[in-house]
Amino acid sequence: MPPLVDPVPGGRPGDLARAHALAHELSAQGVRAIVLAYVDTAGICRVKTVPWQRLQQAVAWGVGMSPVFDTFLANDAIVRTDVLGSPDGDLRLYPDLDRLVVLAGQPGWAWAPVDRITQEGDLHPGCSRTFLRRTVADAEARHGLTFKAGVEIEWTLGRAAAPADEFAPATQGPAYGATRQIELSDYAADLLAALDAQEVPVAQFHPEYAPGQFELSTGALDPVAAADQSVLVRQTIRAISQKHGLRASFSPAVTERGVGNGGHLHLSVWRHGVSLHAGGSGRYGMTREAESFVAGLLAHLPGLTAVIAPSPASYLRLKPSQWAGVFTAWGRETRETGVRVITGTAGHQSQDANLEIKPADLAANPYLALGCAIVAGLDGITSGTALPEEVVDDPARLIPDEAVARGVRRLPTSLAQAVDAFREDEVVCTALGPVLADAVVAVREGETAAVAGLDEAGVAAAYRWKY
Ligand code: GLU
Ligand code: MG
Repeated sequence: MPPLVDPVPGGRPGDLARAHALAHELSAQGVRAIVLAYVDTAGICRVKTVPWQRLQQAVAWGVGMSPVFDTFLANDAIVRTDVLGSPDGDLRLYPDLDRLVVLAGQPGWAWAPVDRITQEGDLHPGCSRTFLRRTVADAEARHGLTFKAGVEIEWTLGRAAAPADEFAPATQGPAYGATRQIELSDYAADLLAALDAQEVPVAQFHPEYAPGQFELSTGALDPVAAADQSVLVRQTIRAISQKHGLRASFSPAVTERGVGNGGHLHLSVWRHGVSLHAGGSGRYGMTREAESFVAGLLAHLPGLTAVIAPSPASYLRLKPSQWAGVFTAWGRETRETGVRVITGTAGHQSQDANLEIKPADLAANPYLALGCAIVAGLDGITSGTALPEEVVDDPARLIPDEAVARGVRRLPTSLAQAVDAFREDEVVCTALGPVLADAVVAVREGETAAVAGLDEAGVAAAYRWKY
């Protein structure tokens, strides 16, 4: 699907007639209102809703919402930058009709992601969806490159009846165990049916490692659609979980110990419909450009961590030997390196080969995360960065001198460290622009201050049900 054009006051060409027809179709299907969704800098999905009769108006003139939400923290406290966080002003939310779906898990509701523009009709420099759309469009215009992306969803299910400050895992069975699939058989079938009705192409669903943990992955899409889809899938998981007396947490660390919830980013780079990750003369069939793309990701990974792992709870998850990929290293199918190179199976590499960015979690705003990852990889291509040697097995096993010699660095171990690395990353900050870059710094510093004095259990509890 070609990237959507920017919204304009009065409506994008053709959108008004389309919205008129669509609104009546929605009403005939029992839809009362449409959820207009966007993700803030802290990674929280925030919404407004409009009755179906107002869809056309929304498409023409947008729906008002304050820019103050760009500097909300996960606990709803507000921080400021020089341009964001004030109670003044208004933005217009424009639903993307291409991505509008009827919510199968919430009868009476439809859902659409939005782009945000100013009352004057200018692009809002704090709109993360616009940032990703522009980044993708730029890559095509300047380099002739396109992308396929996906966001893996891991979540942990607790019993809704448990006290709010407690986590009671919804399953007892072992990791990846058939027992767990049987324990929540009806729930899982309802979830898959809802996603099917919403035309979300589920690739896989399985019980994961940690108590009560599950994972779902979907097919690769253009990056904006992939980010939208990850938000929609989470909305659906929450709704179906609630119906089954369960509570879903996408927090990176539901408890302070053990394996957390990842939100691994999958990314592949294409030119004229041909993958750069297969059939090339580089390692594992990568083209030289694909190798440089990986090298760019690794070079920027410390600063990127503030974007892809943005919560104090992220650093409870980002520990060695827990499959979260906390080193600036790559390996073929290695789950402990920051970038896992996936070649696909013999005979299908030209379609399946891709990169998995492991440290990313679901506290991340997926638009910012994918956009910044693309910026980092492209910087590797434009600079012709050489890809270091592969790391086989867990990089935690390398002795320190060997790690240094091979350029293998541990990723930041706290949000404060990640923000320091982010600030030093001129390429990523420049691509975001000053408004978004300052928002990232201010919100991360706000989150760090919000948990000052809490121990690890306190941090896990503070964010357990936020994401
Ligand atoms: N749950 C692990 C994480 O925190 C990932 C497990 C896997 O590789 O799927 O990222
Ligand atoms: Mg997993």
